[in-house]
Amino acid sequence: MARIISGTQIAAELGMQVAQDAARFHAERGRAPALAVVLVGDNPASEIYVRRKIAQCRKSGITSLEHRLPASLSQADLLALITRLNGDPAVDGILVQLPLPAHIAPVPVLGAIAPGKDVDGFHPVNVGRLSTGGEGLVPCTPLGCMMLIDTVVDDLRGKHAVVIGKSNIVGKPVAMLLLERECTVTVTHIATQGLPDIARRADIIVAAAGAPLLVRGDWVKPGAVVIDVGINRIEQPGGKARIVGDCAMDEMPHAGAVTPVPGGVGPMTIACLLANTIKAAIRHTRSAAA
Ligand code: NAD
Repeated sequence: MARIISGTQIAAELGMQVAQDAARFHAERGRAPALAVVLVGDNPASEIYVRRKIAQCRKSGITSLEHRLPASLSQADLLALITRLNGDPAVDGILVQLPLPAHIAPVPVLGAIAPGKDVDGFHPVNVGRLSTGGEGLVPCTPLGCMMLIDTVVDDLRGKHAVVIGKSNIVGKPVAMLLLERECTVTVTHIATQGLPDIARRADIIVAAAGAPLLVRGDWVKPGAVVIDVGINRIEQPGGKARIVGDCAMDEMPHAGAVTPVPGGVGPMTIACLLANTIKAAIRHTRSAAA
């Protein structure tokens, strides 16, 4: 049977490390690291994500500063809030929960966050640093994927990684991280031809397509590592929904290691957000003191 990589367990270990780092930061600087969480509107899924992030902050000794704003908020008012948070020395990280209401364009909003406080790693400066191998804040889900891969692969150098999906939040940054570690990376997407054959040549597959059970057992070569980022809600007869990933894991006993859904990449995303907040807090207070 394929080894199961428990994101839940690895995220819990990272959470303990974050809590220790937060306590040390508090002892040294006289305050807890602080994350501003901005939620505009009342999207129910966003509400759940934000609640989870805030609960994890509390558990780890990170102060969360909540900014819950009505869906009618103007883009100018949101930008003004971000400018205020950028200049507030007591704020170390800023998270703007996506999606934003339709009348607010996400690109200028994410681009307005100070790169040093951009704990989601979506600012063009951080994207640029990631592409050039510089020290920036790295998007949380790709960072979590790399940590999971590192638990089962000793040396990534020369391995063939196939990334399925090319989004700015998962596919592209994970491809950059794999490339930085000297994997040979193939990035695939909806228009890729012959995807099963490409996947069969992979030592590592990272599936981030949002396509339920897209990756079948015969796409995976024996011993390959399969990281399933997908979270897909499947409606069931009787009204109960089921969450499945992008990979048919029960068809992959021959894989070397696989991540489950749920309990794989998902828990790593929030743990990496908190780790990024600590990283931003240390750098931000160091540069303020300099
Ligand atoms: P997206 O819709 O922005 O991008 C999907 C990408 O997959 C696109 O590049 C598209 O070309 C490609 N794609 C779609 N269908 C495909 C197919 N049949 N074959 C090949 N490529 C295909 O999605 P995203 O925001 O990158 O998210 C991807 C999935 O990961 C979603 O299920 C999302 O819910 C999940 N996700 C999970 C976490 C987590 O914390 N676990 C975080 C972010 C996203």
